[in-house]
Amino acid sequence: MTRFVGHGRQEVTTADELTPVDEHLAAVLDLLPTPEPIGLRLSDALGLVLAEDIVSEVRVPDFANAAMDGYAVVVSDLEAATSTVPVGLPVVGEVAAGPGRATTLTAGRVARIMTGAPLPEGAEAVVPVETTSGGSGQVYFHAPVPVGTNVRYPGEDLQPGQPLLSAGHRVSPADVGLLAVAGVARVRCLPPPRVVVLSSGDELVPAEDIPGPGQIRDANGPMLAAMIRAAGGVPFSAGIVPDEPDAVRWAIDANLGHADLVLSTGGASAGTRDLLPDVIGELGEVRTVKVAMKPGMPQILGSVRGTPVIGLPGNPVSAFVSFEVFVRPALRRLQGRRGIDRPTVTARAGTRLSAPRHKRGYTRVRLERDGDGWVATPTGPQGSHVITSIALANGLAVVPEDVMEIPEGGEVTVRLLVD
Ligand code: AMP
Ligand code: MG
Repeated sequence: MTRFVGHGRQEVTTADELTPVDEHLAAVLDLLPTPEPIGLRLSDALGLVLAEDIVSEVRVPDFANAAMDGYAVVVSDLEAATSTVPVGLPVVGEVAAGPGRATTLTAGRVARIMTGAPLPEGAEAVVPVETTSGGSGQVYFHAPVPVGTNVRYPGEDLQPGQPLLSAGHRVSPADVGLLAVAGVARVRCLPPPRVVVLSSGDELVPAEDIPGPGQIRDANGPMLAAMIRAAGGVPFSAGIVPDEPDAVRWAIDANLGHADLVLSTGGASAGTRDLLPDVIGELGEVRTVKVAMKPGMPQILGSVRGTPVIGLPGNPVSAFVSFEVFVRPALRRLQGRRGIDRPTVTARAGTRLSAPRHKRGYTRVRLERDGDGWVATPTGPQGSHVITSIALANGLAVVPEDVMEIPEGGEVTVRLLVD
C-alpha cells in the first residue's frame, strides 16, 4: 500500500508497488461497520435481509371456510344422488365472505355459500354451484360428496409456533404476503446502506447544463447513484465539488452524518489538483493504493469518524469498473447479503483480449449465446473515458494478472453485470 506523497511522484508503476485486487477488496470490506438492524413496516421490507427469526403466532385459516362458490351441505343428504335421479334440497340462506354471525345448517337443507365464507356449523362439504342445478329455491345434486370436499380447515396453512422465516433470509414479495397473513406487520431488517456520492472536478457541470470551454458533464455522479440504487443502497448526492480543499472538506464533513459510506470520484490520481487524499487524511485516515487492475488502478480508501470513504478514479469507465469490483460487494455486505459477488460464466473470447503485465484486466464485453456456450466480444474501444464501452456491456471479461493476452477463441471468465 502506498501513502500519498504529493506532487512530483514517479509516474511509472512497478509490479511491487501494486496491491492485488483481492487484497484491496478485503481492505474495503474490513473497513465496513457492522450493520445495525432496524424495525420496519412490512411494506418497506421487500428485498431486505431479516435480522430476526419469525414464528407464526396464529393459525391460518382461523375458521373453516368454503374453497368454492356453491352449496354447503350435510353429506348424508346427498348419499342417494345420481345423475339420473338427483336429490333436491331447499336452500335456507346465503353466506358470503365477510364479517357476520356464525350460521348453522341442519340435515335436509343446504346453504348457498361463497368462496372464503365461514362454513355454517353442521355443514360438512361444499358442492360447487356448476355441478348442481343452481338457484336459490330447490337445488338438485347429481352425486354424493365425501366429508371435507372444498372445505378449508383451520390451521391448514399455518399453525401457531410454526417457523416462517429465519434471520439472514431476504424478503421476497411472497414473504410479504406470508407475513401479512400471519399478522406480522413490523419486521427487523438490515436497512439499505446510505451512500453519499460526490463528484470532484473543476471541469464538471450537471447533465442539464451546457458545458462551457474545457467543461464536461458529470457522468459519475448520476451513474454511481444509479449503481448504488441497483445494488440495494440509497444514494444521497452531494453534487459537484470543485477542486478546492475547503470545498472537498466541507462536502465530506457535512455529509458524514447521514452516510454509511462516502463515495467520491475524481481527484484520485497524480494530477496537481488531485487533493482528495490530503483532505481525507486531514479529516481522518487515508491510504492511496495502486491496485493491480486496469482500468481502475488509483484507489483511495479512508475512514472519517468511523465512516468509510472510498475514492474512485474520475474516468467514468474506471469509476464503473472499480464500483463493480469494490463498492458493490461492500454494499451487499452491509445489507447482510450472503452472496456478495456477481455470477460468472466461462466464455470464448470473440476477439483477442489483452491486459497489461501484472494487472488484472477488465474488458467490457457483450456476452452472447453460441450453441451451448457463450462468446464474449469487446464493446468497441476500451479507453477508460469511453463510456459507450460500459453502456453496451453486459459483462466484464477478466484477464488474469499473469496473462497478457487471451487469443480469439480462448477461454475467459466473464463477470456478469446482471444478477
Ligand atoms: P481525475 O481522477 O480527477 O484526474 O479525472 C480523470 C478523468 O476523468 C479526467 O478526464 C476527468 O475530466 C474525468 N472525470 C472526472 N470526474 C468525472 C465525472 N464525474 N464525470 C465524467 N468525467 C469525469
Ligand atoms: Mg480531477
